[in-house]
Amino acid sequence: MKNINVRRLALIAGVLTLGTLTACGDHSNSEAHVHAQNEARKQSTTASLPTITNYFTDDVIVSDSLVECTLSDGTETSCYIVTMPINSEIDVGHDKGPWCPRNISDTAEDAGIWLNDNEVYDADGNFIENLATFYSDDNWQLFNPETGEIKVTDSKDACLAAARPDVDPKYQNYCVECLPEYAEDVEPQKYLIPAYPEKASRITQFDPHGGVGLAFNGVKMDAPAPVDAILGAYTLAPFDDCGGHVNPHVGYHYHAITECSSIDTALSTHGKMLGVALDGFTIFERKHPDGLVPDDLDDCGGHAIDGSGVGGQEGIGYHYHAGDAGSNQILACFSAPSGCAIEGDSMHCDVRRGPPGNRPPPPKPS
Ligand SMILES: [Zn+2]
Ligand SMILES: [Zn+2]
Repeated sequence: MKNINVRRLALIAGVLTLGTLTACGDHSNSEAHVHAQNEARKQSTTASLPTITNYFTDDVIVSDSLVECTLSDGTETSCYIVTMPINSEIDVGHDKGPWCPRNISDTAEDAGIWLNDNEVYDADGNFIENLATFYSDDNWQLFNPETGEIKVTDSKDACLAAARPDVDPKYQNYCVECLPEYAEDVEPQKYLIPAYPEKASRITQFDPHGGVGLAFNGVKMDAPAPVDAILGAYTLAPFDDCGGHVNPHVGYHYHAITECSSIDTALSTHGKMLGVALDGFTIFERKHPDGLVPDDLDDCGGHAIDGSGVGGQEGIGYHYHAGDAGSNQILACFSAPSGCAIEGDSMHCDVRRGPPGNRPPPPKPS
Protein backbone atom coordinates (compact mmCIF):
# COMPACT_ATOMS: atom_id res chain seq x y z
CA MET A 1 0.00 0.00 0.00
CA LYS A 2 2.32 2.68 -1.22
CA ASN A 3 -0.26 5.19 -2.26
CA ILE A 4 -2.11 5.86 0.93
CA ASN A 5 -1.89 9.54 1.66
CA VAL A 6 -2.86 12.02 4.26
CA ARG A 7 -5.83 13.25 2.24
CA ARG A 8 -7.35 9.79 2.15
CA LEU A 9 -6.69 9.13 5.83
CA ALA A 10 -8.52 12.31 6.68
CA LEU A 11 -11.45 11.18 4.56
CA ILE A 12 -11.50 7.78 6.21
CA ALA A 13 -11.88 9.51 9.53
CA GLY A 14 -14.73 11.52 8.02
CA VAL A 15 -16.48 8.40 6.77
CA LEU A 16 -16.23 6.73 10.15
CA THR A 17 -17.90 9.72 11.73
CA LEU A 18 -20.56 10.02 9.07
CA GLY A 19 -21.31 6.32 9.25
CA THR A 20 -22.71 6.69 12.72
CA LEU A 21 -25.00 9.60 11.94
CA THR A 22 -28.58 9.42 10.86
CA ALA A 23 -29.39 12.33 8.62
CA CYS A 24 -33.14 12.33 8.25
CA GLY A 25 -35.63 10.23 10.13
CA ASP A 26 -37.70 7.63 8.34
CA HIS A 27 -37.11 6.23 4.88
CA SER A 28 -39.64 8.15 2.76
CA ASN A 29 -38.69 11.43 4.37
CA SER A 30 -35.10 10.57 3.71
CA GLU A 31 -35.76 10.06 -0.01
CA ALA A 32 -37.61 13.35 -0.27
CA HIS A 33 -34.79 15.01 1.59
CA VAL A 34 -32.18 13.55 -0.78
CA HIS A 35 -34.19 14.71 -3.75
CA ALA A 36 -34.50 18.24 -2.40
CA GLN A 37 -30.80 18.40 -1.63
CA ASN A 38 -29.91 17.16 -5.10
CA GLU A 39 -32.23 19.63 -6.78
CA ALA A 40 -30.60 22.45 -4.86
CA ARG A 41 -27.14 21.27 -5.88
CA LYS A 42 -28.04 20.79 -9.54
CA GLN A 43 -29.24 24.37 -9.71
CA SER A 44 -26.01 25.68 -8.32
CA THR A 45 -23.50 26.36 -11.07
CA THR A 46 -20.70 26.31 -8.55
CA ALA A 47 -21.60 22.89 -7.11
CA SER A 48 -18.44 21.09 -6.12
CA LEU A 49 -17.44 17.54 -6.94
CA PRO A 50 -18.80 14.84 -4.66
CA THR A 51 -16.35 14.06 -1.85
CA ILE A 52 -16.06 10.45 -2.94
CA THR A 53 -14.02 11.50 -5.96
CA ASN A 54 -11.16 12.14 -3.53
CA TYR A 55 -10.83 8.42 -2.94
CA PHE A 56 -9.46 7.70 -6.42
CA THR A 57 -5.69 7.08 -6.45
CA ASP A 58 -3.49 9.72 -7.99
CA ASP A 59 -3.25 7.70 -11.23
CA VAL A 60 -6.94 8.29 -11.85
CA ILE A 61 -7.86 11.73 -13.15
CA VAL A 62 -11.14 13.32 -12.04
CA SER A 63 -12.43 16.43 -13.82
CA ASP A 64 -12.01 19.71 -11.92
CA SER A 65 -15.67 20.54 -12.24
CA LEU A 66 -19.03 19.08 -13.18
CA VAL A 67 -20.26 18.89 -16.77
CA GLU A 68 -23.75 18.70 -18.21
CA CYS A 69 -24.55 15.16 -19.26
CA THR A 70 -27.41 12.99 -20.48
CA LEU A 71 -27.85 9.63 -18.72
CA SER A 72 -28.96 6.27 -20.12
CA ASP A 73 -32.68 7.12 -19.84
CA GLY A 74 -32.37 10.61 -21.26
CA THR A 75 -32.18 12.38 -17.89
CA GLU A 76 -30.20 15.59 -18.15
CA THR A 77 -28.06 16.21 -15.09
CA SER A 78 -24.54 16.92 -13.87
CA CYS A 79 -21.68 14.44 -14.13
CA TYR A 80 -18.02 14.34 -13.34
CA ILE A 81 -15.52 12.77 -15.73
CA VAL A 82 -13.18 10.02 -14.53
CA THR A 83 -10.21 9.10 -16.69
CA MET A 84 -9.06 5.57 -15.96
CA PRO A 85 -5.45 4.69 -16.73
CA ILE A 86 -4.89 1.56 -18.80
CA ASN A 87 -1.13 1.73 -18.41
CA SER A 88 0.25 -1.62 -17.25
CA GLU A 89 2.67 0.19 -14.96
CA ILE A 90 0.19 1.76 -12.55
CA ASP A 91 0.13 0.56 -8.97
CA VAL A 92 -3.29 -0.85 -8.18
CA GLY A 93 -2.23 -1.87 -4.69
CA HIS A 94 -1.85 -5.58 -5.41
CA ASP A 95 -0.06 -7.90 -7.83
CA LYS A 96 -1.65 -8.68 -11.19
CA GLY A 97 -1.60 -12.37 -12.05
CA PRO A 98 -0.70 -15.18 -12.11
CA TRP A 99 -3.44 -16.58 -14.36
CA CYS A 100 -2.71 -19.87 -16.16
CA PRO A 101 -0.62 -22.62 -14.58
CA ARG A 102 2.04 -24.06 -16.91
CA ASN A 103 1.94 -27.69 -15.87
CA ILE A 104 -0.67 -29.90 -14.22
CA SER A 105 1.72 -30.19 -11.27
CA ASP A 106 1.54 -26.41 -10.61
CA THR A 107 -0.11 -25.36 -7.37
CA ALA A 108 -2.52 -22.53 -6.57
CA GLU A 109 0.51 -20.30 -5.93
CA ASP A 110 1.24 -20.33 -9.68
CA ALA A 111 -2.34 -19.93 -10.86
CA GLY A 112 -5.40 -17.74 -10.63
CA ILE A 113 -9.01 -18.65 -10.00
CA TRP A 114 -12.06 -19.78 -11.94
CA LEU A 115 -15.69 -19.05 -11.07
CA ASN A 116 -18.46 -21.57 -11.48
CA ASP A 117 -21.96 -21.78 -9.98
CA ASN A 118 -21.22 -19.28 -7.22
CA GLU A 119 -18.02 -21.03 -6.21
CA VAL A 120 -14.43 -19.84 -6.52
CA TYR A 121 -11.98 -22.55 -7.63
CA ASP A 122 -8.19 -22.41 -7.78
CA ALA A 123 -7.38 -22.75 -11.48
CA ASP A 124 -4.33 -24.81 -10.55
CA GLY A 125 -2.76 -27.74 -12.40
CA ASN A 126 -5.08 -30.19 -10.74
CA PHE A 127 -8.14 -28.20 -11.83
CA ILE A 128 -6.89 -28.09 -15.45
CA GLU A 129 -6.15 -31.82 -15.34
CA ASN A 130 -9.70 -32.58 -14.25
CA LEU A 131 -11.67 -30.23 -16.51
CA ALA A 132 -13.23 -33.10 -18.50
CA THR A 133 -14.68 -34.48 -15.27
CA PHE A 134 -15.56 -31.06 -13.85
CA TYR A 135 -17.61 -30.14 -16.93
CA SER A 136 -18.62 -33.75 -17.80
CA ASP A 137 -17.23 -33.36 -21.32
CA ASP A 138 -14.39 -35.47 -22.71
CA ASN A 139 -13.45 -32.82 -25.26
CA TRP A 140 -11.55 -30.91 -22.57
CA GLN A 141 -7.81 -31.49 -23.02
CA LEU A 142 -5.73 -28.45 -22.14
CA PHE A 143 -2.55 -30.37 -21.37
CA ASN A 144 -0.15 -32.83 -22.92
CA PRO A 145 -0.91 -36.17 -21.23
CA GLU A 146 2.72 -37.24 -21.50
CA THR A 147 4.45 -34.18 -20.10
CA GLY A 148 1.63 -32.53 -18.17
CA GLU A 149 2.44 -29.28 -19.98
CA ILE A 150 -0.56 -26.94 -20.28
CA LYS A 151 -1.25 -25.08 -23.55
CA VAL A 152 -1.21 -21.36 -22.73
CA THR A 153 -1.52 -18.43 -25.18
CA ASP A 154 1.98 -16.96 -25.22
CA SER A 155 1.79 -13.81 -27.36
CA LYS A 156 -0.46 -10.81 -27.93
CA ASP A 157 -1.65 -12.28 -31.24
CA ALA A 158 -2.54 -15.56 -29.58
CA CYS A 159 -4.34 -13.69 -26.80
CA LEU A 160 -6.34 -11.63 -29.31
CA ALA A 161 -7.30 -14.69 -31.35
CA ALA A 162 -8.28 -16.72 -28.28
CA ALA A 163 -10.09 -13.95 -26.40
CA ARG A 164 -12.35 -12.78 -29.21
CA PRO A 165 -16.02 -13.88 -29.01
CA ASP A 166 -15.61 -16.38 -31.88
CA VAL A 167 -12.50 -18.07 -30.57
CA ASP A 168 -10.00 -19.00 -33.31
CA PRO A 169 -10.39 -22.81 -33.58
CA LYS A 170 -6.60 -23.05 -33.37
CA TYR A 171 -6.86 -22.01 -29.72
CA GLN A 172 -9.54 -24.43 -28.63
CA ASN A 173 -8.30 -26.25 -25.56
CA TYR A 174 -6.00 -23.44 -24.47
CA CYS A 175 -5.69 -21.62 -21.21
CA VAL A 176 -6.07 -17.99 -22.31
CA GLU A 177 -3.75 -15.53 -20.67
CA CYS A 178 -3.27 -11.92 -21.76
CA LEU A 179 -0.51 -9.90 -20.11
CA PRO A 180 -0.95 -6.30 -18.89
CA GLU A 181 1.68 -5.06 -21.36
CA TYR A 182 -0.48 -6.19 -24.30
CA ALA A 183 -2.68 -3.17 -23.52
CA GLU A 184 0.08 -0.60 -23.16
CA ASP A 185 -0.87 1.30 -26.33
CA VAL A 186 -4.52 1.64 -25.34
CA GLU A 187 -5.64 5.21 -24.62
CA PRO A 188 -6.98 5.96 -21.13
CA GLN A 189 -10.77 5.63 -21.05
CA LYS A 190 -13.00 8.46 -19.84
CA TYR A 191 -16.30 7.86 -18.06
CA LEU A 192 -19.26 10.10 -17.28
CA ILE A 193 -20.44 9.49 -13.73
CA PRO A 194 -23.65 11.14 -12.43
CA ALA A 195 -22.83 13.42 -9.51
CA TYR A 196 -26.29 13.18 -7.89
CA PRO A 197 -27.63 9.64 -8.31
CA GLU A 198 -31.18 8.99 -7.22
CA LYS A 199 -32.69 5.54 -6.99
CA ALA A 200 -35.25 5.14 -9.77
CA SER A 201 -38.45 3.10 -9.72
CA ARG A 202 -37.11 0.95 -12.56
CA ILE A 203 -33.79 -0.80 -12.78
CA THR A 204 -31.37 -0.12 -15.63
CA GLN A 205 -29.68 -3.04 -17.37
CA PHE A 206 -26.04 -2.48 -18.12
CA ASP A 207 -24.35 -2.73 -21.47
CA PRO A 208 -22.40 -6.02 -21.35
CA HIS A 209 -19.46 -4.23 -22.98
CA GLY A 210 -19.71 -1.02 -21.00
CA GLY A 211 -18.55 -1.96 -17.53
CA VAL A 212 -20.36 -1.62 -14.22
CA GLY A 213 -18.07 0.53 -12.13
CA LEU A 214 -14.72 2.11 -11.43
CA ALA A 215 -12.62 1.00 -8.48
CA PHE A 216 -10.77 3.71 -6.59
CA ASN A 217 -7.46 1.92 -7.30
CA GLY A 218 -7.84 2.56 -11.04
CA VAL A 219 -9.28 -0.79 -12.14
CA LYS A 220 -12.48 -1.03 -14.17
CA MET A 221 -15.17 -3.31 -12.73
CA ASP A 222 -16.63 -5.17 -15.64
CA ALA A 223 -19.88 -6.88 -16.54
CA PRO A 224 -19.91 -10.68 -16.07
CA ALA A 225 -17.26 -12.49 -18.12
CA PRO A 226 -18.87 -14.30 -21.10
CA VAL A 227 -18.29 -17.68 -19.52
CA ASP A 228 -20.53 -19.62 -21.92
CA ALA A 229 -18.55 -18.42 -24.95
CA ILE A 230 -15.26 -19.12 -23.19
CA LEU A 231 -16.24 -22.64 -22.14
CA GLY A 232 -18.00 -23.33 -25.45
CA ALA A 233 -14.63 -23.06 -27.18
CA TYR A 234 -12.94 -25.30 -24.60
CA THR A 235 -10.91 -22.41 -23.29
CA LEU A 236 -10.43 -21.16 -19.77
CA ALA A 237 -9.61 -17.49 -19.14
CA PRO A 238 -8.72 -17.48 -15.44
CA PHE A 239 -8.85 -14.43 -13.20
CA ASP A 240 -6.05 -13.72 -10.78
CA ASP A 241 -6.68 -14.08 -7.06
CA CYS A 242 -7.98 -10.49 -7.00
CA GLY A 243 -10.68 -11.28 -9.60
CA GLY A 244 -8.97 -9.55 -12.52
CA HIS A 245 -7.56 -10.41 -15.90
CA VAL A 246 -6.45 -8.55 -19.00
CA ASN A 247 -8.22 -7.83 -22.23
CA PRO A 248 -5.83 -6.16 -24.69
CA HIS A 249 -8.54 -3.62 -25.59
CA VAL A 250 -9.43 -2.50 -22.07
CA GLY A 251 -6.45 -3.54 -19.96
CA TYR A 252 -6.66 -5.11 -16.53
CA HIS A 253 -10.23 -5.31 -15.18
CA TYR A 254 -12.20 -7.06 -12.44
CA HIS A 255 -14.99 -9.59 -12.86
CA ALA A 256 -15.07 -10.42 -9.16
CA ILE A 257 -14.23 -8.66 -5.93
CA THR A 258 -12.22 -10.83 -3.60
CA GLU A 259 -10.35 -10.19 -0.40
CA CYS A 260 -7.27 -8.91 -2.22
CA SER A 261 -9.17 -6.52 -4.49
CA SER A 262 -10.74 -4.92 -1.40
CA ILE A 263 -7.67 -2.85 -0.63
CA ASP A 264 -6.57 0.64 0.28
CA THR A 265 -10.06 1.94 0.73
CA ALA A 266 -12.09 3.58 3.39
CA LEU A 267 -13.63 1.43 6.09
CA SER A 268 -17.08 2.29 7.34
CA THR A 269 -19.84 0.50 9.19
CA HIS A 270 -20.72 -1.07 5.81
CA GLY A 271 -17.24 -2.47 5.12
CA LYS A 272 -14.66 -1.08 2.74
CA MET A 273 -15.83 1.28 0.05
CA LEU A 274 -14.27 0.10 -3.22
CA GLY A 275 -15.40 2.40 -5.97
CA VAL A 276 -18.28 3.95 -7.79
CA ALA A 277 -20.83 2.35 -10.12
CA LEU A 278 -21.53 3.94 -13.51
CA ASP A 279 -24.85 5.17 -12.09
CA GLY A 280 -22.98 7.19 -9.45
CA PHE A 281 -23.74 5.08 -6.36
CA THR A 282 -20.81 3.72 -4.38
CA ILE A 283 -19.85 0.04 -4.24
CA PHE A 284 -18.78 -1.57 -0.97
CA GLU A 285 -17.19 -4.95 -0.37
CA ARG A 286 -19.52 -7.95 -0.05
CA LYS A 287 -19.63 -8.19 3.72
CA HIS A 288 -19.98 -5.85 6.62
CA PRO A 289 -17.04 -5.71 9.06
CA ASP A 290 -18.92 -8.25 11.21
CA GLY A 291 -18.52 -10.78 8.39
CA LEU A 292 -22.20 -10.84 7.43
CA VAL A 293 -23.69 -10.03 4.04
CA PRO A 294 -26.41 -7.38 4.44
CA ASP A 295 -29.77 -9.17 4.40
CA ASP A 296 -31.73 -6.44 2.64
CA LEU A 297 -29.94 -6.20 -0.72
CA ASP A 298 -32.22 -5.62 -3.70
CA ASP A 299 -32.05 -7.30 -7.13
CA CYS A 300 -29.18 -5.07 -8.23
CA GLY A 301 -27.17 -5.72 -5.05
CA GLY A 302 -27.84 -2.43 -3.28
CA HIS A 303 -29.71 -1.19 -0.25
CA ALA A 304 -31.11 2.01 1.13
CA ILE A 305 -29.41 3.16 4.28
CA ASP A 306 -30.29 5.37 7.15
CA GLY A 307 -27.57 7.86 7.77
CA SER A 308 -27.25 9.15 4.25
CA GLY A 309 -23.60 10.05 4.69
CA VAL A 310 -22.23 6.49 4.94
CA GLY A 311 -19.32 6.24 2.55
CA GLY A 312 -18.85 9.95 2.13
CA GLN A 313 -21.72 10.43 -0.34
CA GLU A 314 -23.49 13.24 1.39
CA GLY A 315 -27.21 13.30 0.82
CA ILE A 316 -27.29 9.87 -0.83
CA GLY A 317 -28.99 7.09 1.09
CA TYR A 318 -28.21 4.09 -1.10
CA HIS A 319 -25.22 2.01 -2.11
CA TYR A 320 -24.22 -1.38 -3.46
CA HIS A 321 -22.37 -4.33 -2.00
CA ALA A 322 -20.32 -6.28 -4.54
CA GLY A 323 -21.69 -9.68 -5.54
CA ASP A 324 -20.24 -12.93 -4.22
CA ALA A 325 -16.84 -13.50 -5.86
CA GLY A 326 -18.03 -16.82 -7.34
CA SER A 327 -21.04 -15.22 -8.98
CA ASN A 328 -19.06 -13.56 -11.82
CA GLN A 329 -21.28 -10.56 -11.16
CA ILE A 330 -20.08 -7.50 -9.25
CA LEU A 331 -23.48 -5.85 -9.77
CA ALA A 332 -26.61 -7.35 -11.29
CA CYS A 333 -28.09 -4.09 -12.62
CA PHE A 334 -28.17 -0.37 -11.92
CA SER A 335 -30.75 1.14 -9.60
CA ALA A 336 -30.50 4.52 -11.30
CA PRO A 337 -30.00 5.69 -14.87
CA SER A 338 -26.33 5.30 -15.69
CA GLY A 339 -23.43 7.23 -17.07
CA CYS A 340 -21.12 5.57 -19.57
CA ALA A 341 -17.73 5.38 -21.21
CA ILE A 342 -17.27 8.53 -23.27
CA GLU A 343 -17.01 8.07 -27.03
CA GLY A 344 -15.48 11.09 -28.73
CA ASP A 345 -16.78 14.35 -27.26
CA SER A 346 -20.32 13.19 -26.58
CA MET A 347 -21.68 13.83 -23.10
CA HIS A 348 -24.71 11.64 -23.93
CA CYS A 349 -25.29 8.17 -22.51
CA ASP A 350 -28.80 8.20 -23.87
CA VAL A 351 -29.23 4.71 -25.33
CA ARG A 352 -32.81 5.44 -26.43
CA ARG A 353 -31.62 7.93 -28.98
CA GLY A 354 -28.35 6.28 -29.89
CA PRO A 355 -25.26 8.24 -30.82
CA PRO A 356 -25.95 11.75 -32.20
CA GLY A 357 -25.37 10.67 -35.82
CA ASN A 358 -28.15 8.08 -35.64
CA ARG A 359 -30.92 10.32 -34.39
CA PRO A 360 -33.90 10.99 -36.63
CA PRO A 361 -34.07 14.56 -37.95
CA PRO A 362 -36.18 16.94 -35.84
CA PRO A 363 -39.82 17.26 -37.03
CA LYS A 364 -40.40 19.98 -39.62
CA PRO A 365 -42.15 23.06 -38.23
CA SER A 366 -45.79 22.99 -39.29
ZN1 LIG B 1 -12.69 -9.91 -18.80
ZN1 LIG C 1 -24.34 -1.30 2.94
